[in-house]
Amino acid sequence: MNIDKVVIANRGEIALRILRACRELGIRTVAVHSSADRDLKHVRLADETVCIGPASSGESYLNIPAIISAAEVTDAMAIHPGYGFLSENADFCERVETSGFRFIGPSAEVIRLMGDKVSAIREMKAAGVPCVPGSGGPLPEDGDECVRIAREIGYPVMIKASGGGGGRGMRVVHSEAALAGAVSMTRSEAANAFGNDAVYMEKYLAHPRHVEFQVLADAHGHAIHLGERDCSMQRRHQKVVEEAPAPFITDEERDRIGRRCAEACRKIGYRGAGTFEFLYEDGEFFFIEMNTRIQVEHPVTEMVTGVDLVQEQLRIADGQPLSLSQEDLEIRGHAIECRINAEDPKTFMPSPGRIEQYHPPGGPGVRVDSHVYNGYTVPPYYDSMVGKLICHNATRDAAIARTRGALAEMVLEGIKSNIELHRDIMADAAFQQGGTDIHYLEKKLGL
Ligand code: ADP
Repeated sequence: MNIDKVVIANRGEIALRILRACRELGIRTVAVHSSADRDLKHVRLADETVCIGPASSGESYLNIPAIISAAEVTDAMAIHPGYGFLSENADFCERVETSGFRFIGPSAEVIRLMGDKVSAIREMKAAGVPCVPGSGGPLPEDGDECVRIAREIGYPVMIKASGGGGGRGMRVVHSEAALAGAVSMTRSEAANAFGNDAVYMEKYLAHPRHVEFQVLADAHGHAIHLGERDCSMQRRHQKVVEEAPAPFITDEERDRIGRRCAEACRKIGYRGAGTFEFLYEDGEFFFIEMNTRIQVEHPVTEMVTGVDLVQEQLRIADGQPLSLSQEDLEIRGHAIECRINAEDPKTFMPSPGRIEQYHPPGGPGVRVDSHVYNGYTVPPYYDSMVGKLICHNATRDAAIARTRGALAEMVLEGIKSNIELHRDIMADAAFQQGGTDIHYLEKKLGL
């Protein structure tokens, strides 16, 4: 390993996850944190720490000059952005690299290309990845032309912001009468929220599942896929439960779509870990977007493949070739992840505060990725996720049984959480059957 010291430009469970990966590879770590995060577990464990600003993430975790100065004063070699915050910010990546550090992820150019959904879709189409039928490019100003495109696609259609993210900047249109209004509203929202008023049109799929493929690509032109995850259990486009492999996806489908994704990586010069997100409906895959970073749900893939994705990211950034080939990849058993949030079980409002009692579950095949501990205070400034419970077992049924046992064991008191919701989902007959669509959870919750 040439990389000897890494700045962890994130917080919470993913910062701890990155620290653990670095330690195993003999890499020293620098935790950069806000003044509200002095008590985070990874801050206590890191070799060095630098406070980069006040609680507000705009002045700390999103503060590019402060993060780069921290890398300079600690003489680090690379910066790991984690997920969220600056992880998909091409300007940040560029600043990191021009300041003489390595960004652990793809190049700024590729982040920019895939961050713009219209250009991402264009690239994927060219690489033979199946996409949602749609405008294929930004919508023109001409209203009649939009009407023509919508007729060709067939209603309902979805208007989406090219620069959108986080489930924002999307609108479903059921009839021609509502089209012009929806296009102009999405356009102005996109201009305000993302500084880019380009919008495009897609066929609205009524009952899809969310199935995504994990990829790894090195700097030497090798790219592989590590199978898929099903993340259909969502509320307001936020994933709640994820699993690998996706129920009822055949080996043939996995191989066919996965190889296309790996091929697309080679074509665009992708480097690092990445995810191709698809909607899956009536036996067909439709690409919707690519995430150019490690994802929250990466552990389910790690559990079924035995590959440490964060260590692979570090090795790739170090210039090493992938540690396995496509032929080496084997999917063993089934893994399920429950995202544990500090939130009110009825209103879903964040519930920050002091954790009075915390007893994580354990036993074979049970993994808890979490930064919390007894007496830790969950601050109100950031995402409400306090950890992830990941259970692995030989079959899907056995993985569900293991997850139910682990959830029954889990104690988290002092704050409100969604543990009960996870117990309900694991006991749900439709979930147990597998293959529920992206609307299932909201319907079950009566939303
Ligand atoms: P974001 O970047 O904001 O997450 P995505 O393009 O990934 O946006 O879409 C987020 C979610 O919106 C999807 O997981 C799915 O639930 C829904 N969605 C997006 N496109 C479509 C579509 N064409 N038809 C139906 N649902 C869609």
